[in-house]
Parts: sequence; structure tokens; C-alpha cells
Amino acid sequence: MCYKKIAREIKKYNTIVIARHIGPDPDALGSSIGLKELILYNFPKKQVYVIGAPASRFRYLGNVDKLPEIDYHKALLIVTDTPDAKRIDGADYTKFHKVIKIDHHPFIEKFADIELIDDKASSASQLIIELAKINHYKLNEDIASKLYLGVVADTNRFLYEYTSYKTLELAAWLIKETNLNFTSLYDNLYTKSLKEIIFSGYISLNMQITDNGLAYIKLSDDILKKYEVDSSTAGNLIENYNNVDKIKVVAFCSEDKGNNYIKCSIRSKGPIINEIASHYNGGGHIYASGARPKTFDEVDKMLEELDKLCQNFE
Ligand code: AMP
Repeated sequence: MCYKKIAREIKKYNTIVIARHIGPDPDALGSSIGLKELILYNFPKKQVYVIGAPASRFRYLGNVDKLPEIDYHKALLIVTDTPDAKRIDGADYTKFHKVIKIDHHPFIEKFADIELIDDKASSASQLIIELAKINHYKLNEDIASKLYLGVVADTNRFLYEYTSYKTLELAAWLIKETNLNFTSLYDNLYTKSLKEIIFSGYISLNMQITDNGLAYIKLSDDILKKYEVDSSTAGNLIENYNNVDKIKVVAFCSEDKGNNYIKCSIRSKGPIINEIASHYNGGGHIYASGARPKTFDEVDKMLEELDKLCQNFE
């Protein structure tokens, strides 16, 4: 793994831009904002910017910057948590002097000069913690809180498959190094609004489950309006249904009128789903994927493919 090489590049460049994927989750934000703060804490004279659309739901993870005029020929771009160029939020990677990728998704394409990819790592935030540890970077509690939340969110509190001894070891190291008061951080991630809970009642009552073990729900804009939630809310609730017996794969598909697509979150207890997601403008991890079909007819086709996948899964 090229942690030392990455540290050498960070040291070399005075202007560093950090980007992550579109539609960010806490790991994308924690890894990118945490990395920015980590670099600034260790090299206070550098100009470091973290870019991408702001995500108001996750404001507690910090803010993004508006990129000023920079000399791209002298700038380093670091992209975290993003396997392919088309999903980089807000940066044209071809303009930069050097590009580094730090990611834990299955490989899709090479777009960076240096690619640190570990698709067995729980999260991109875990990789940033390892970068800090191997290179003896100084840390503080604020930086640690962002990286810790990235790990906790992507592992669902150390529950998922890619939680390893290394995940726990690095999390423990982070807590010990910074005296991180980690239990106080959970409120931000796990407090749900009453509206979400009422909406999850609607999902539980209306979700369909096929004989093959595919659970799904299609949510129109009218339903979202009725429950006063947005198209991301169902995706935030999907983890509640991923460990229910009789369900092998669960897919929640919500109309997103603003973006003119159907936002689908898909989770699996065994069948590998990212290949099918990639047929419908999506992708992701083998057991946690997203897709953006344009119409509910396309959603039906995707659900048919997922149902067959469940049928063929022992
Ligand atoms: P979500 O259901 O939105 O939490 O996404 C689960 C995983 O799938 C995350 O790793 C996302 O980065 C990935 N993902 C979500 N939507 C897409 C998409 N349209 N294209 C590729 N990957 C996606």
C-alpha cells in the first residue's frame, strides 16, 4: 500500500484540493473533510480545500469550501471514496498536476496517478486513519471525530462484513491517540425524526416480498409529499430491513422529481448486487449499492433482475 508515497506527495504540494463522490454519505464527507483538517493540522501553511456540493443533513461533519482561483498546474487533487471519474463531485481531475485516489469500492477504472484502493477496507475513513498512523501525523479530537464517524457509518456500528481486526484496531488507536469522546458522537448519526419513523411504518406495511426473498418498495413523489419526507429518506431507513428473515435483497426506490430519476438504494445479505445496479446508472459495493433509473418501468426491470438473482442464490 502506498501510504508513504502519498505522504511524500502531500508534503510536496502547497495547493491541495480534496473531492469525494456525488450524493455524499458520512464516509465520503468524513474521509474528505477529515483529510483536509489532518493535512492543515500537520502543514498549517498549505492551502487545502475540500469541495463538492454541501450536504445539509451532515453539517456536523464540517463544511465544504468554495474553490478560489488556483493554479491547477501546481495543484494536487486527492479523491476519496470514489471509484470512477464520473462520480467525482465538483472537480475536473484532468486539470490537476497530480491526482491521488483513496478508495474502498471495488475497482472500476484508473483515473489517478496514485491509486490506493483496498476493497476489503470498511471505509475510506479507515484508510485515512491508516494514512495518519503510518506517517505519524499529529491528530486532534476534532479530526478524529470526523474519521471515526465515517467508519461507524459505513460499518453500521462495526456490524458489516468488512469490519476487520484492522478496523477495530485503527478505531481504538484513534480513540486512544486523541482521547476521543466517541459515544457522544452517535446522536448525530442515529437521531431520527418522528416523520421518518412514521414513514418507516408506511414502508413496513407496504413493502412487497417475493417468494425468492426480494423485498422492495416503489415510492412516488405523492407518497413522499404525504409523509413530508424526501427521496433520500427511504435510503436512510433501508438498514432496518437488511437483517429481516426471508429477505435476501432489499431495494427502496423513491421518485426524485428534482433530479428526474428514481433514487434506489439496494442492500443484500448474500447475492452480489453491484453488477445489476451498474446496469441502471448505479454501482457501489457488492452488498450495498445504489442506482438511478429514469423511470418506474426501468425500476421494474431492475427488480426483475434482482429477483432472479435471489432465486439463483443458495
Ligand atoms: P446508498 O444506497 O445511496 O447509501 O449507496 C450505497 C453505495 O452505493 C455507496 O457506496 C454509494 O457510493 C454507491 N452508489 C449509490 N448510488 C450510486 C450510483 N448512482 N452510481 C454508483 N454508485 C452508487
